Amino acid sequence: KAAMKKIISRRSLQMHTERQTWQESQQGQKIMEFRRSLPAYKEKDAILSAIANNQVVIISGETGCGKTTQIPQYILESEIEATRGAMCNIICTQPRRISAMSVSERVAAERGELLGETVGYKVRLEGVKGRDTHLLFCTTGILLRRLLVDRNLKGVSHVIVDEVHERGMNEDFLLIVLKDLLPHRPELRLILMSATLDAELFSSYFGRAPMVHIPGFTYPVRTHFLENILEMTGYRLTPYNQIDDYGLEKLWKMNKQAPRKRKSQIASAVEDALRAADFEDYSPLTRESLSCWNPDCIGFNLIEHLLDYICQNEKPGAVLVFMTGWDDISALKEKLQGHQIIGDPNQVLLLTCHGSMASSEQSLIFNKAEDGVRKIILATNIAETSITIDDVVLVIDCGKAKETSYDALNNTPCLLPSWISKVSAKQRRGRAGRVQPGECYRLYPRCVYDAFADYQLPEILRTPLQSLCLQIKSLKLGSISEFLSRALQSPELLAVQNAIEYLKVIGALDENENLTVLGRYLTMLPMEPKFGKMLVLGAIFYCLDPILTIVAGLSVRDPFLSPLDKKDLAEAAKAQFSQDYSDHLALVRAYDGWKDSEMDLAGYEYCWKNFLSAQSMKAIDSLRKEFYLLLKDTGLVDSNSTTYNTWSYDEHLLRAVICYGLYPGICSVVPNEKSFSFKTMEDGQVLLYSNSVNGRESRIPYPWLVFNEKIKVNSIFLRDSTAVSDSVLLLFGGSVLKGDMDGHIKMLGGYLEFFMSPSVAEMYQSLRRELEELIQT
Ligand code: ADP
Ligand code: MG
Repeated sequence: KAAMKKIISRRSLQMHTERQTWQESQQGQKIMEFRRSLPAYKEKDAILSAIANNQVVIISGETGCGKTTQIPQYILESEIEATRGAMCNIICTQPRRISAMSVSERVAAERGELLGETVGYKVRLEGVKGRDTHLLFCTTGILLRRLLVDRNLKGVSHVIVDEVHERGMNEDFLLIVLKDLLPHRPELRLILMSATLDAELFSSYFGRAPMVHIPGFTYPVRTHFLENILEMTGYRLTPYNQIDDYGLEKLWKMNKQAPRKRKSQIASAVEDALRAADFEDYSPLTRESLSCWNPDCIGFNLIEHLLDYICQNEKPGAVLVFMTGWDDISALKEKLQGHQIIGDPNQVLLLTCHGSMASSEQSLIFNKAEDGVRKIILATNIAETSITIDDVVLVIDCGKAKETSYDALNNTPCLLPSWISKVSAKQRRGRAGRVQPGECYRLYPRCVYDAFADYQLPEILRTPLQSLCLQIKSLKLGSISEFLSRALQSPELLAVQNAIEYLKVIGALDENENLTVLGRYLTMLPMEPKFGKMLVLGAIFYCLDPILTIVAGLSVRDPFLSPLDKKDLAEAAKAQFSQDYSDHLALVRAYDGWKDSEMDLAGYEYCWKNFLSAQSMKAIDSLRKEFYLLLKDTGLVDSNSTTYNTWSYDEHLLRAVICYGLYPGICSVVPNEKSFSFKTMEDGQVLLYSNSVNGRESRIPYPWLVFNEKIKVNSIFLRDSTAVSDSVLLLFGGSVLKGDMDGHIKMLGGYLEFFMSPSVAEMYQSLRRELEELIQT
């Protein structure tokens, strides 16, 4: 052991000398100079001594001051100097995989090394790490997984949790686990880093841990609200130019959003402000235009117009456009590529920055554009705090971000664009003032900004907790509700109970809240449990391809477009894909057709003809691959065989697998004199969204529909649905894999009897007898 230690310390000494030579080279000098110029450098000693003297330290400082790239290096360097290099193992978590990857690359480059030497990274399904890696950047999820097998984080000397202010679910979860671990590992150091100043909250959570603040410097940024933008560019909003396909889609999605209060608050704030004298200052044209402003739409046309204006009139400098998500970004990019100026690569370098971009794309965004070429980056809120692009001078802020919201009473989750907080808006604006005074264009009126919440709610308080509960169980952390009561801010008890109840109903937890076999598989699939369930059964029953398509399709924006003025045509187009009383199977057909056309390079025409979104189709295509890899990871599919598609064309089997996933989302088809209506146990009468193939049927030869989502507008609407038979519901509703057939029958029996259909009750009774016999034998 002693000899080993000697070798290791000699090796790190050798690396240390190599490094010193590099530092003396010209490039090394330049980088060292840059590193010394960062605001974090001035606080280096204060930071290191706080870490030396305390088990937990909280560090805050403006974005770009050098927290992520510098502080782990300071720790590593000081440990090496103190000849503790061999024992130093730093793990630095990032909320997103893309930042873990880009930051590790940057840090390795700053050290004159390749990735996989001292510095490495690990994200799901990917990573570079070597024998000598002492600083590992990883996603929060990866560290949670490591805790699963290595409860005490053996050999780790420092854990740095970055971007804690984002208050993602995983981060809050990790903090509870680490807080429990600290007393058992007194030598372990925990460092929390954040861009904003809510450090107090974290400090008191960790028993008044000391805080170090890194003072920063930014240039002033001028703010232009929507009214100023209209005035300045002469653009006129009309209801028409906001309602393009995407706008419509937004409108529809916003309608089902849970925090309705804030939305109506904002609408009335706009009205009030319009009436107020404030707006007297603006030309009648602007006032009229503002009165058409529709808070539900970003309005791609407006962004295009504004970018055009900036290219022609504004000072040089990169433009950063904050959008809500990958689908918006790619749609806008496509639109802009057709623009005379913005689409001309000699004048504009148009780039994107979002969570699913390839690493080759990543380095492009940091490069400076050639002289006379304007760099425009379309980004999600990744660029808000985790990634810093230095040459940004102009920021366009749509005012929204995609966040999961959850209403414990309705028990309905959604990933929807919603208004950001004042803190986020300020962060976004700050991105324009890094190198010189900047400009920030906010695509919303000032009064809307005034109605923004100060801070965003932490994710743990606004999303369903199903996946989190599964994770608590897989880490064997005891009672779910007891564990969650120790969080930084605990979720509502009702939300916790809902999640546990749901997991029991779907067979992921047993009566005593223990993970079932199914539950264990679901913990390996980071997605909503119902989607995980479908994939598991699709793999087991050898009908994986269509199930991959369905799960991917349910995870992206609805690929079936429905423009307001061509609704009938669009619905007819969708109807061609359906023969089976199933929106899900219609999607499978639409996708398969697209895939065939895409091979002949005619995918775009195919989408156009059939009212499908090409973006969604592409997104489905790449998600399918991702899901397949995840499944392979669980060992449920064997990569060397194609048997997993043996039954992919069996429509009845597919129906059963869909039912298995979507249960307990069931509704009964109640025939009446001329047609039929729909009822669920909790809501009574419900309606189908007009886009659903089942909404257009005059007859549905099945007694049940299973559905993915309920949306409350005025009435309750069901989105995608698939019709299923009694026997499928009886056998596949709930938990076939659970083994608790008896409990399952009782529960389903309750549901069937509720609707008092004599034929069903009879059939159920006889099936039940048969099954009971079966269980006994
Ligand atoms: P913080 O974590 O405090 O927001 P970072 O440590 O990420 O700051 O970044 C510090 C500085 O390093 C940034 O302002 C930027 O100038 C530079 N930087 C970071 N990553 C890169 C990169 N991949 N390429 C070029 N410069 C980078
Ligand atoms: Mg950072």
